[in-house]
Amino acid sequence: MIQAQGVGKSFGAHRVLNQVSLDLAQGEVVAVIGPSGSGKSTFLRCLNHLETIDEGSIQIEGEALAQPDATGRSAYVPEREVRRICRKMGMVFQSFNLFPHMTVLQNIIEAPMTVKGISRDEIIPKAERLLDKVGLLAKRDNYPGRLSGGQKQRVAIARALAMEPEIMLFDEPTSALDPELTVEVLHTMRDLAREHMTMLVVTHEMGFAREVANRVAFMDQGQLIEIAPAANFFTSPQHERTKAFLRQML
Ligand code: ADP
Ligand code: MG
Repeated sequence: MIQAQGVGKSFGAHRVLNQVSLDLAQGEVVAVIGPSGSGKSTFLRCLNHLETIDEGSIQIEGEALAQPDATGRSAYVPEREVRRICRKMGMVFQSFNLFPHMTVLQNIIEAPMTVKGISRDEIIPKAERLLDKVGLLAKRDNYPGRLSGGQKQRVAIARALAMEPEIMLFDEPTSALDPELTVEVLHTMRDLAREHMTMLVVTHEMGFAREVANRVAFMDQGQLIEIAPAANFFTSPQHERTKAFLRQML
């Protein structure tokens, strides 16, 4: 579903991604862990073109988004194609990013209507099913300001799902939440994984990584240091840097 090969990215002179390669199979859940500033968010943002890459290639479902041109720098396919390909991915951020002036339902139906041209009559029942699925149908007509952080994040997940993505990218979806609210968001994500959604999840939740992820990747200083099946990753990490990070986390 995702093939990232040799991805490099700099902000000015600061090289934040260095030869990052990652493949994600259909229905696979990969957790990405690593210290703050290691490039996890930037990598996720590069996958769906919220940032551009300088080096390497990205393919989504076998279609190139960017690949090196004759000079070796990454070149993107035409803008229309970029938009179409990136629509296969939904993203959930740490900070929810709901529209505060819209109700929960309006938040969910907005993009399907404006971006995909789906009619209101068609999208409302679907939005209601998604709200039911994340346990928030009763909050349909509330404004985000009236919701807890955990509820906001579950609305954000429902909103991303309303675009019918093939892949979900999560960037520390529970980092802004109190522990008791974290649980309900992780529960929703676990349900999605059980339905075989392909997911790439940046997280500090080691329990989630261990129990839900098929593979765990460790990033440090812009490099993907190690990736392994979840069981092996936690019981027998190979790299010193991974071991040091896990010692400090667990
Ligand atoms: P993580 O998500 O692992 O904490 P980030 O991907 O957010 O790491 O950041 C990686 C590095 O890139 C950090 O040093 C950060 O300061 C830098 N960085 C991220 N975004 C930008 C930006 N838009 N401009 C300049 N530097 C950035
Ligand atoms: Mg981050």
